[in-house]
Amino acid sequence: MNILVFSENDDVVKELLSGFRDLKGSDKVTLFTYSDSDFTGFADKVVKSSFPEDIRLEDHAVSTLSELGKEEGFDLIAVGSTRRGKEIAPRVAQRLGFPCVTDVIGVYLDTDLEVERYSLSGRTIAREKILRIPAVLSVMPRTFEITIGNESPEVIERFGEAGEYVARVIGRRKKEKSGVELEKAEIVIGLGRGIGGKEGIEKAMKLKEVLGGEIGSTRPVAYDYGWLPEETMIGLSGKRTKPSLYIAIGVSGQIQHMTGVMNARRIVAINKDENAPIFEYADYGIVGEWRDVLPKLIEAFRNR
Ligand SMILES: Cc1cc2nc3c(=O)[nH]c(=O)nc-3n(C[C@H](O)[C@H](O)[C@H](O)COP(=O)(O)OP(=O)(O)OC[C@H]3O[C@@H](n4cnc5c(N)ncnc54)[C@H](O)[C@@H]3O)c2cc1C
Repeated sequence: MNILVFSENDDVVKELLSGFRDLKGSDKVTLFTYSDSDFTGFADKVVKSSFPEDIRLEDHAVSTLSELGKEEGFDLIAVGSTRRGKEIAPRVAQRLGFPCVTDVIGVYLDTDLEVERYSLSGRTIAREKILRIPAVLSVMPRTFEITIGNESPEVIERFGEAGEYVARVIGRRKKEKSGVELEKAEIVIGLGRGIGGKEGIEKAMKLKEVLGGEIGSTRPVAYDYGWLPEETMIGLSGKRTKPSLYIAIGVSGQIQHMTGVMNARRIVAINKDENAPIFEYADYGIVGEWRDVLPKLIEAFRNR
């Protein structure tokens, strides 16, 4: 199987290249990239590119990946399922007339190509057989471990506008970033609507100071009330995390949120409602007001 890989994120690129290179039945793995990083040990071939300032990365990637798909007859085009990748993958599939399978969390190639994806809002994992190849997959970050092989890739350059565009960028401005790296955090403190706003968030920040880790949030906190930046949202429409410890404070535990913390090694929940669904997922549960519980936890960790 001849596989083309793309992501705008170097870590995701390395994950995808490792996963697809080690897949039984994979013959050649080609990377299309805008990055200057060295992919020795990862890909058989690297196609490097860049694009003019006034073209969106997504549009340029769609055009170039579609052209490469046509010219080189790939069996599979695998795109990292980042925010950009979620747009790119289906557009490439549409241009090439290939099937597109999104948000894949496992890939298997024996006689058939099979993938795993969350289904029923993340309650279960479905294994699906891809009936038509070539196909486009968008693969979730952290699906594969990064492993280094012994490939020394042939590197070729491919510049130019690549195709026609429906939009031109006429300006860019910086968006304030929270600097949160939830996907990599070992400890995540997740704040839900029950945290109530500024006072609660400040208290939770104190817990973070003594414990380390990152602050995550539920959709009401990040979207509806905007108490925390959007980048902190965990779940079906947010980030997927894999921490050793997830502490949920004032989080009810709806499946759309829990999907993003299912892979946590330990879940601790603080909630004043003993019937909150979060307790079904929690390894340790504290039924109580965060106003009572948090000061005690902070004190305990400070004196540890
Ligand atoms: C298509 C779709 C996608 C979605 N994607 C996401 C997603 O990616 N991420 C996400 O988070 N949600 C998502 N949602 C929303 C999700 O369904 C829930 O509505 C949301 O997760 C609930 O957030 P919450 O737990 O903060 O709020 P609530 O459900 O309102 O829960 C608040 C909890 O706080 C507790 N509480 C209140 N006061 C206190 C206190 N003083 N001390 C202790 N506990 C207290 C309450 O008992 C309650 O359990 C999605 C929904 C849909 C339909």
